Amino acid sequence: MQQKHPEYTLRLAHAETEAPTIKTYTFDTSALGFKFTAGEYVKVVLDGVVGDPRGNQREFSIFSPATRSAEYINITTTIEPSDSPYKNKLNSLKPGDQATVIGPLGKFTLNGLNDDAEVVLIAGGIGITPFRSIILTELASGSSRRITLIYSARTP
Ligand SMILES: Cc1cc2nc3c(=O)[nH]c(=O)nc-3n(C[C@H](O)[C@H](O)[C@H](O)COP(=O)(O)OP(=O)(O)OC[C@H]3O[C@@H](n4cnc5c(N)ncnc54)[C@H](O)[C@@H]3O)c2cc1C
Repeated sequence: MQQKHPEYTLRLAHAETEAPTIKTYTFDTSALGFKFTAGEYVKVVLDGVVGDPRGNQREFSIFSPATRSAEYINITTTIEPSDSPYKNKLNSLKPGDQATVIGPLGKFTLNGLNDDAEVVLIAGGIGITPFRSIILTELASGSSRRITLIYSARTP
């Protein structure tokens, strides 16, 4: 039998343009008991997506630290002029709008490592998202783990 993952209706608290083609969405999780491990992702399901061959949901790594999961989660994505109907819908969300968020999901975490195990994280472009969450969570938890991030982006 397939496992049913937790599902939440989250309110968009705000959306912020970080760079010309990068936008971060903050969803309010207060009083919902939402918990995740840094590195996990969610599926974001939107109403009103029309004519998208991939449907009305996409996966996004959680971008914010796990230590703030009782207040909010962030997701970050690219927004381009030739975007899919799903991305256009995401881009049109206004504060106060709601989305269905399924998760947390995934195994791309530091679980199972010793607290003092050194890690090297390698990412390109939007692939930075789970690593930001991992690094901020480690910092907020007072971890003394040594972390090296190797990152590449198309533009400085
Ligand atoms: C575990 C996991 C974590 C992920 N985390 C992130 C994350 O943190 N951030 C993130 O951004 N992505 C993340 N992704 C990828 C994300 O789920 C999407 O697949 C990705 O953002 C592309 O979605 P899209 O709707 O833009 O593209 P798709 O629908 O796959 O389309 C690809 C491209 O085709 C073109 N296109 C599609 N439809 C049309 C149309 N009708 N007209 C014109 N052009 C069109 C657009 O250029 C579009 O960008 C993750 C995926 C996984 C599996």
